[in-house]
Amino acid sequence: SALYKAMAGKTPERSFIMVKPDGVQRGLVGEIVKRFEQRGYTLRAMKMMHASKPHLEEHYKDLSSKGFFKDLVAYMNSGPVVAMVWEGKDAVKTGRKMLGETNPLASAPGTIRGDFCIEVGRNICHGSDSVESANREISLWFKPEEIIAWDPCIKDWIQE
Ligand code: UDP
Ligand code: MG
Repeated sequence: SALYKAMAGKTPERSFIMVKPDGVQRGLVGEIVKRFEQRGYTLRAMKMMHASKPHLEEHYKDLSSKGFFKDLVAYMNSGPVVAMVWEGKDAVKTGRKMLGETNPLASAPGTIRGDFCIEVGRNICHGSDSVESANREISLWFKPEEIIAWDPCIKDWIQE
């Protein structure tokens, strides 16, 4: 129906964004949260977690055949992370732009990786690469009841 189409067009997109152990250790949690808040995204869920290796292997399962997989899992298991769900228009693609490239040296200044790091294996943050992976990652890291429905009072000043 026309009503369904109108509503579907407005369904806000969600991305799974995570501050990695090096980002937490370096005190960059607030900086990363600030950028998503300032851009106009809505925080729907957030928790600190020292993720287990099996949990991280599941999160990165698409990369399990890569040579860096073992080191990646060890890096991600080396300390707590801050896992988040951010919602808003084009959250996945724009979230990736805000993060920068996988390799921080290829990341433009102004991006999170381009401003704060220099090593691919110490690139401080994660962001989903598609809506499909966002949904998979969100359900891996959060229980449905941990995703909070709330209405930011500024929403009409951010989205038409
Ligand atoms: N990674 C690495 N070496 C590589 C490629 C990736 O250590 O050559 C790490 C890096 O921390 C990256 C993570 O593995 O963020 C996941 O890789 P992916 O290709 O999914 O990059 P991302 O989506 O994080 O940009
Ligand atoms: Mg990825």
